[in-house]
Amino acid sequence: MSKERVIIFDTTLRDGEQAPGATMNLEEKLLIAKTLEKMGVDVIEAGFPAASNGDFAAVHRIASVIKNSTICGLARAKKSDIERTAEAILSAARPRIHTFIATSPIHMKFKLKMGEEQVLDLIKESVSLARNLCAEVDWSPEDATRSKPDFLFKAIETAISAGANTINIPDTVGYTTPDEYFALISAIKNNVKNIDKAVISAHCHNDLGLAVANSLAAMLAGARQIECTINGIGERAGNAALEEIVMAIKTRGDFYKVETGIDATMISRVSKLVSTITGFTIQPNKAIVGANAFAHESGIHQDGVLKHRETYEIMTPQSVGLEKIQLRLGKLSGRAAFKDRIKEIGYELSDEAVDSTFKKFKDLADKKKEILDEDLISLVDDSLVNSKSRYQLLELEVKCGSRKTTEVLIKIKIDSDEVETSFRSGEGSVDTIFSAIKKLIPHSANLDLYQVQAVTEGTDAQANVVVRLKQNNRIFSASGADTDVLTASAIAYINCLDKLNKI
Ligand SMILES: [Zn+2]
Repeated sequence: MSKERVIIFDTTLRDGEQAPGATMNLEEKLLIAKTLEKMGVDVIEAGFPAASNGDFAAVHRIASVIKNSTICGLARAKKSDIERTAEAILSAARPRIHTFIATSPIHMKFKLKMGEEQVLDLIKESVSLARNLCAEVDWSPEDATRSKPDFLFKAIETAISAGANTINIPDTVGYTTPDEYFALISAIKNNVKNIDKAVISAHCHNDLGLAVANSLAAMLAGARQIECTINGIGERAGNAALEEIVMAIKTRGDFYKVETGIDATMISRVSKLVSTITGFTIQPNKAIVGANAFAHESGIHQDGVLKHRETYEIMTPQSVGLEKIQLRLGKLSGRAAFKDRIKEIGYELSDEAVDSTFKKFKDLADKKKEILDEDLISLVDDSLVNSKSRYQLLELEVKCGSRKTTEVLIKIKIDSDEVETSFRSGEGSVDTIFSAIKKLIPHSANLDLYQVQAVTEGTDAQANVVVRLKQNNRIFSASGADTDVLTASAIAYINCLDKLNKI
């Protein structure tokens, strides 16, 4: 018997992007959307078109490029929002409007300043308008988990009568618990007359660390769409993590008896891509995608796994796209071997992109003996993400150490101009590099975060540096990779300035 399918609705580009510092530009969003499509995500929430012209442009572009996933845009219960969203998504093969209004007493009283009747009228009006413009309408009662059940049931019934075909129940503030959320979804099924005409959806936030557990509880109660993000990024403590939901359903199919259309072997790659673009590094013990998620350290565990894998391993690293047996490339590997491997780990690059990344691969192979998959992923993501950058680091020379002054000589390409400068200071090498760059690319941003991580093991490993800059309450992050940590720092800083000046 085939299992029932759960719709995976990814909101990395909308709710995920709302995380402070996760701002992405159009190219980055498009790259993530293409990867999500390839992974088999059913619905991609591409943004909030009425929020800004940049958001509109990104959603519009994604809608015209993506063919296999439904493209959804978020709209408030306002005529102008809904019309703008329709304009952004209607070129999609499968467009969807997601509109919402708050239904909890606290939100209605203080935020909307509206009574129940007014809210019901607005639901009818906004959902009908959306449905007239688009065949698929997703409706959310914001702060559903703190709404009065009877009013919530009435609101849902109104939305379905007006044409909504998905009813999303957001736990906006991350307040509910699995048992309570299960009971709420069950009550909706039992009390909303026309609920059989809509798919019930879960949207959970992780303030209490319960987003994934709550989503799975909703699914057990009958929800058939789960809204989630890659690496669980999102407002505050984030959203339910896509990779955890998908692997829970896959690993415990015996219990949940449902399935998703996700190709789980893409998980590791998508996770790294989102981390590279947002500059949000992943904690080592993060389920599924953390560096230690499949590492068995204790002797007893190692011994057990060697004798029989399943003694301590409930899923294989291969199932999420982490190959244990890696084909190691080196200095002598040719373009064909490089291209094959890139394809095997899931990238489809144009010939032009293969050429430029192959050149970078050769440079890296000169400095590093063995090139592992992690190196390739970092190399390709880095060049895909940063290939459109206006700034390019051409040369960097640093004199530093125990001496009193640090000296930096730097050459940068800005569009087609090459500019260079030198800078001396009593500060450390990273500070001095950043000051030298500021001389060439003047800005008023402050450094909010500077972080270094090794891509693989060993002293010849590539360093991945994340830089986060803050300017007028806007936060931008970017990363840079190189076998030299100072070069990686300069690249990350330049990439971040490019983002800051573009958006
Ligand atoms: Zn949310």
